[in-house]
Amino acid sequence: MLSPPIILPHTSISLRLLRLDRLHLPIGGNKYFKLKYNLEEAKNQNYSTLLTFGGAYSNHILATARAAQAQGFESIGIIRGEAHAPLNKVLQAAKEAGMQLHYINRSMYKLKHTKEVKEKLKQAFGGFYLIPEGGTNLEAVRGASEIPKLIAHTVYDTLLTPVGTGGTLAGLAIGLPPEKQLEGIAVLKGADFLKTDTHALINDFQKKYPAYSHAPLAHWNLQTDYHFGGYAKTSSSLNAFIQRFYLDNQILIEPIYTGKMMYAIADLAQKQYFKSNSRLIALHTGGLDYLPSSN
Ligand SMILES: *Cc1c(COP(=O)(O)O)cnc(C)c1O
Repeated sequence: MLSPPIILPHTSISLRLLRLDRLHLPIGGNKYFKLKYNLEEAKNQNYSTLLTFGGAYSNHILATARAAQAQGFESIGIIRGEAHAPLNKVLQAAKEAGMQLHYINRSMYKLKHTKEVKEKLKQAFGGFYLIPEGGTNLEAVRGASEIPKLIAHTVYDTLLTPVGTGGTLAGLAIGLPPEKQLEGIAVLKGADFLKTDTHALINDFQKKYPAYSHAPLAHWNLQTDYHFGGYAKTSSSLNAFIQRFYLDNQILIEPIYTGKMMYAIADLAQKQYFKSNSRLIALHTGGLDYLPSSN
């Protein structure tokens, strides 16, 4: 599932993509791994319904809808903001996968993880297995920790991933052999808090799963300068980069996650951030189902 080499001009760096976007379809991408043990846990706890939260373009909402459908769960998506008719393509696809969509206003949405709101949801929908917004919890970290098993350890020394909530990054830090370098590229602005969040996730995970806590962690780092103005913000240079990348490599990437990561990698390589002759593998985390611009 590795791509052919991707050329980084004027550097000694080799780069390939791990095509998670082509694995485990129709869920695909990192979301498959983040959901895997949540579904198992929901089954173990005898839940028949999954409930989760997201914005109107959430990859996580669609992935949850499809994963629920594939494994015979009901699913409920609590969507931030107001309903719009017709549904955008992400929500339409989630609905087609059987998800019930409910909308809550932004101020209520901010309180979604409080006891009060959870209680209200329980009254409205009965029992459900709750998956947080973005899908990040300790079960998601556990799933993501299995991603490095897909690649022979001898073929790379640095792994890179785009970062939204840090769940995938935390899992990779746990699952990677300790001698590997791990770089996350934050796609939102002011993402320094994600370093703390990721540390906390790793710590909580190791407490819950002591079997993992004996191994030393891979050295990980978070790049915070490649947000292009914020989450889902883009620029003409990022868009041009993505087009060029497609022409050169025939691999589609999108501007929200993988495009920013690839731009960052090219830029860091130019700036000689990586040791010479480094062998990089970057995760293609998916996200190509429906882009806001195609709506
Ligand atoms: C959700 C998502 C991410 C971010 O994963 P986190 O675990 O939240 O950091 C990266 N890429 C794509 C395509 C995603 O959908």
